[in-house]
Amino acid sequence: MSLDIQHIRSQFPILNREVNGQSLVYLDNGATSQKPKVVLDTLDTYYEKYNANVHRGIHTLSQEATDLMEESRRKIQAFINAKHDHEIIFTRGTTEGINLVSNVLRNVLTAEDEIIITEIEHHSNIVPWQLLCERTGAKLKYIPLTKEGILDITKLDDLLTDKTKLVCVNQVSNALGVVNPIEIIIQKAHEKGAWVLIDAAQSAPHTPIDVQKMDCDFLVFSGHKMYGPTGIGVLYGKEDILNALPPFHGGGEMIKDVTMEKSTYACLPFKFEAGTPDIAGIIGLGAAVDFINSIGIQTIHDYEKELVDYTIQRLSEFEEVEIYAKDAEHSGAVSFNLKFDGVHSSDVGMILDKKGIAVRTGHHCAQPIMQHFNIPGTVRASFAVYNTKAEIDTFIDGLKTAIRMLG
Ligand code: PMP
Repeated sequence: MSLDIQHIRSQFPILNREVNGQSLVYLDNGATSQKPKVVLDTLDTYYEKYNANVHRGIHTLSQEATDLMEESRRKIQAFINAKHDHEIIFTRGTTEGINLVSNVLRNVLTAEDEIIITEIEHHSNIVPWQLLCERTGAKLKYIPLTKEGILDITKLDDLLTDKTKLVCVNQVSNALGVVNPIEIIIQKAHEKGAWVLIDAAQSAPHTPIDVQKMDCDFLVFSGHKMYGPTGIGVLYGKEDILNALPPFHGGGEMIKDVTMEKSTYACLPFKFEAGTPDIAGIIGLGAAVDFINSIGIQTIHDYEKELVDYTIQRLSEFEEVEIYAKDAEHSGAVSFNLKFDGVHSSDVGMILDKKGIAVRTGHHCAQPIMQHFNIPGTVRASFAVYNTKAEIDTFIDGLKTAIRMLG
């Protein structure tokens, strides 16, 4: 299917902006994507017509707001093919989803247990596990990177033991754009009886996800990276596992009965959704899923693959450019540096910004990867469905200027 990119672009008001007198070229989608008009309008309409607190109101507005919120949950259930809508827990984002799981495991794991993560994780899939291991005495192990910067999966068999309780890995690396072999990781972890948590922050916007086929135990992602509002995200968990775990936050919405002595908890998903949720954000995320579905996530995937391949091809024209994990399968992002001594990624980013081109520079909240390459940071170009090859050409022209100025 060929995409009408101009029609898609026309739905994103911000793309008409100028930055430093130039048309905006937004290549920082890995940090956050722009929002289509349908998402912006959905937020407005919610506050203009339906605003009320959910789940406990007998009045019409409360019931309408509840219906919209629960419809959104079902849209997300379908988007990742979860078996039940109550397996979809709303969070503030990927970070909160991971912290939710790590916190509820505090009283479940012991000093005898082990958690495996990888050297290619975002800090939000490292620090919560370090904290959990500090509190429980459990041991944290890492799947290392090869010299090229891809996961050395040959080490997994030695790392997995009967003590492994959980394996956590991102489906796509935010820092390098590399696609990780999660299928084999899930299969091997399950053979040892361990649960697997997939950080889908960088895959949910770009790749079809089927949690039942994938057979992961938990999966987390953020709305704001997939055309939705900030402050809203999703934790998927298998029903039986979520039922077996204790709650995270205590408060309203998550209880069945409270006495002065003790409380009993609500059923899923409410057990994990204490307090008034981000109702507008949830409904806005539903609109973002509708937007993605209106194009088709597989179509988005295939189109963005063309953009990434084209970017790698154009960057390869320059002997001054080092592309990280160049030969690995990429999705949504490419990371590189100029090979000049003393030149920092931010120098490149600043020159590009003068030309209206937004890229991300620095360690991308993934310092262990930077330590692996012995560099302070990289320049990352990351894509969304509204980007074009013409924009990549503009970015490459900007890079030529940077090479001239910094070389
Ligand atoms: N994991 C990955 C792979 C990410 O790219 C990000 C965001 N850069 C996060 C986790 C954290 O997401 P958030 O800040 O939306 O919680």
